[in-house]
Amino acid sequence: MDRPLSHPYDLHCHSTASDGSLSPCELVRRAASNGVRYLALTDHDTMAGIEAASRAAVHAGIRLIPGVEISVSWNKKCFHIIGLDVDPHNHTLLTGLADLQRLRMERAECIANSLEKHNIHGALEAVREMAGDGMITRTHFARFLVARDYATSVAGVFDRYLVRGKPGYVATQWAELEDALDWIQAAGGMAILAHPLRYQLTASWLRRFLTAFQSAGGTGIEIVSGNSTPQQIATCADYARRYGLLGSVGSDFHDPAFTWVDLGRLSPLPAGVTPVWSRLEMH
Ligand SMILES: [Zn+2]
Ligand SMILES: [Zn+2]
Repeated sequence: MDRPLSHPYDLHCHSTASDGSLSPCELVRRAASNGVRYLALTDHDTMAGIEAASRAAVHAGIRLIPGVEISVSWNKKCFHIIGLDVDPHNHTLLTGLADLQRLRMERAECIANSLEKHNIHGALEAVREMAGDGMITRTHFARFLVARDYATSVAGVFDRYLVRGKPGYVATQWAELEDALDWIQAAGGMAILAHPLRYQLTASWLRRFLTAFQSAGGTGIEIVSGNSTPQQIATCADYARRYGLLGSVGSDFHDPAFTWVDLGRLSPLPAGVTPVWSRLEMH
């Protein structure tokens, strides 16, 4: 698919502070060389990479927008909410994230126990080593299963493991939607629904969610993601207009090995949608 070489904004990506493979500094350098001028680092449930990324951004001459991708449970379904342009030192947000970080550690133990029961041993030690000081995510377990030849690709792991009904699946109660939005607002940020079409929801469930999200104070939705098709972009733009939400763009970049997604390689926002960056203070 034809895409413009680079979009000046990329408002969703991951570093080694969660399940990305580049350090915050490497990520910022790659974004800058791809032509990104405004980059939001949005690791899963942590802002541990923000300080290093901000320093690197000064050197690279681009603007780093502090962010975080918060895991939320709503009606037993998991959603990802980006806190965009948040104060990384805000106590309310940091306290909320600390709870999720504890939850992730407990969940990692439960996933490893479930795999043990299926004779897959040593997962916890392996993912702890991979994650280092960062968050342990299902991606780490997926990489472990690929390394042990249980699947040929990280994406392929999720056909047979780590999902509902399969070995390594653990039901998790993440943050409440209203709480996550309160933390983001307390930290002066905007709440953006990440990748709206990736939750395997019917259109009516997605509409119900968007109604709840909007009335709880949600600001925007991602319209352009790293591998969005033109049809998906049109669908999300339609939701933005219908629910009065601002439009965001973000690659959800994790790893240079996933060559179909890269920092800043994003289609433009469709006409008639107000971009989230109209609300960002440009320093
Ligand atoms: Zn996500
Ligand atoms: Zn993400």
